Amino acid sequence: MRDSYKREINYLRISVTDLCNLRCRYCMPEQGVEKFSHETILSVEEIAEIAGICAELGVNKVRLTGGEPLVRRGIIDICRRIAEIPGIRELCITTNGLLLTKYADDLRAAGVDRLNISIDTLQNEKYKELSRCSFSEHPVDDLFEGFEAAKKAGFENTKLNAVLIGGWNDDEITDFVELTKDNDYQIRFIELMPIGEAASWGKECFLPNETVLEKAPELKFIGESGVAKLYQKEGYKGTIGLISPVNHHFCSKCNRLRLTADGKLKACLHSKKETPIRGLHGEELKAAISKEISNKPENYDLGYENPSSSQRGMSQIGG
Ligand code: SAM
Ligand code: SF4
Repeated sequence: MRDSYKREINYLRISVTDLCNLRCRYCMPEQGVEKFSHETILSVEEIAEIAGICAELGVNKVRLTGGEPLVRRGIIDICRRIAEIPGIRELCITTNGLLLTKYADDLRAAGVDRLNISIDTLQNEKYKELSRCSFSEHPVDDLFEGFEAAKKAGFENTKLNAVLIGGWNDDEITDFVELTKDNDYQIRFIELMPIGEAASWGKECFLPNETVLEKAPELKFIGESGVAKLYQKEGYKGTIGLISPVNHHFCSKCNRLRLTADGKLKACLHSKKETPIRGLHGEELKAAISKEISNKPENYDLGYENPSSSQRGMSQIGG
């Protein structure tokens, strides 16, 4: 279905839980967010019904996110139900990867097509500091084990996403680039957005993605993939992608609709508008979703001086 600006809305992102096994400083407060009660969270059936109606309206790609989707009870069931929906051609998950050694095979068997794994630093100590991870001494190694488990389970084109944060990981840009020398990794830098915890961070943390090209000038532009601009160093196996939601808005290409874990639709990540659709079924549900698509705002002028108006942080929307 097209919105009123003629954008084809075919991509649904579902936050399946607000819970997470990490507390990344830019995403979640140290004490976590106030947990939704069990009854507040959409059930597997409700998620499947909403995704099914979205598919009838033209959605063909679904991404499960969170919080950490792999801590959601019933995640395999959710994947299976969504993968079975006629019209859903691609089912993806964004995860911090730390539970992939446990779940990769089951996710693949349940019909998940592709994974994105978030990795903001290659250094174990820094990872622990940034994510407040307390359950592993070497989380970066665990994450790469998860990546390998996913490969063994049959996942291809797994992307590694790093949020670029001034003062935290801009000193590692060349280390990330060098990782693509002998590995066919697809590493993507995403600009830090002023939303949630990060909305109150200092200006020095918000670096434009051009910083990557300044630190690694040998990177050559090789094309575009969705909202990412792709680069590669000559002779290297992997690629570097740059996604710039702050310095180069991609609202004009936005094809997304978001569903929060407690059943609110968000047509724009940064707008404060949320539409509750829980309790609606059949034609009523379809009409509410169609209306939300029709009313999708044209754009949001996100910037350091104009942070997100979203009432929730990224861990509750899913990014
Ligand atoms: N827990 C999973 C993970 O970390 O991949 C999925 C949920 S997380 C909210 C989804 C993505 O949003 C992660 O890649 C995370 O780094 C990113 N994210 C969170 N806050 C952000 C911010 N302020 N700006 C840019 N990306 C952000
Ligand atoms: Fe959890 Fe992902 Fe947010 Fe980190 S970025 S706190 S892993 S939801």
